[in-house]
Amino acid sequence: SYFVCDDVTCAHRSRRLTFKPINDGTVCSVCHQGTMKREYSAKMLYDQQCFFKSVFDLRTAVEKTKHEEKRKLQTYPNYASLNQMYERLLEVCDQFLAENAYNEINLSHIFAPMKIF
Ligand SMILES: [Zn+2]
Repeated sequence: SYFVCDDVTCAHRSRRLTFKPINDGTVCSVCHQGTMKREYSAKMLYDQQCFFKSVFDLRTAVEKTKHEEKRKLQTYPNYASLNQMYERLLEVCDQFLAENAYNEINLSHIFAPMKIF
């Protein structure tokens, strides 16, 4: 993945970080003003994966249609095979979502403010 300088006037792009990391990036080696940040963050990837999951969720889409439309869709000649294909695509989305670090909930972080002293 690429790193890009967050200073838009510089916008230096590199695969390597040449300086020591600080917080969520490093100081840009070109302009020395901006911070090199991941071009594509785990959150951005997570959002895209959620989008694909919503696109491939045929079952939910059919459930949201009106009774007459639902009946028409479900009696469509290729509905069973289409449904099977969309179920498989949904499984692939779920596999990648499960592997995304952004999907993990750190309970100790969430409940930290509730810590009893
Ligand atoms: Zn820069």
